[in-house]
Amino acid sequence: MATRTAQPRSPKVPEIRKGDTVVVLAGKDAGKRGKVEQVIRRQAAPSSARSVFRRGSAAGGVSVVVEGLNIAKRHTKPRQSAGTTDRVPKMQQGGILDIAQPIPVSKVMLICTNCGKPTRIAHATLDTGRRVRVCRHCGEQLEVKS
Ligand SMILES: [Zn+2]
Repeated sequence: MATRTAQPRSPKVPEIRKGDTVVVLAGKDAGKRGKVEQVIRRQAAPSSARSVFRRGSAAGGVSVVVEGLNIAKRHTKPRQSAGTTDRVPKMQQGGILDIAQPIPVSKVMLICTNCGKPTRIAHATLDTGRRVRVCRHCGEQLEVKS
């Protein structure tokens, strides 16, 4: 029987993980759903990245890259780039690149895989001592099956 504990929030059980489905709450893609491709801690967005979200929000510096959402179209000329990020190939062809920009976690909400609703997350500790995320709506565990 899982019980809720009064322990301080454990950083080992992040609210959103790679592979989760989330809904975007704000910005140009508000209301859209997508799968988390990457979780980025500490404002790791490259300085060249333009986001519709303001930086320095009180989100604690965690943002997520969601598949197909918050896409920045980058128009490029053929050139040899400085190769500053691994997302951009070193030898760029001209054209339009679709690059998913990170979205602060405060601007997305996890969708429960069980009840399908956008949900907030509770944390619980199992009898085994394992900490898990739990949907506040239906009480089901939200574990990523990868
Ligand atoms: Zn649920």
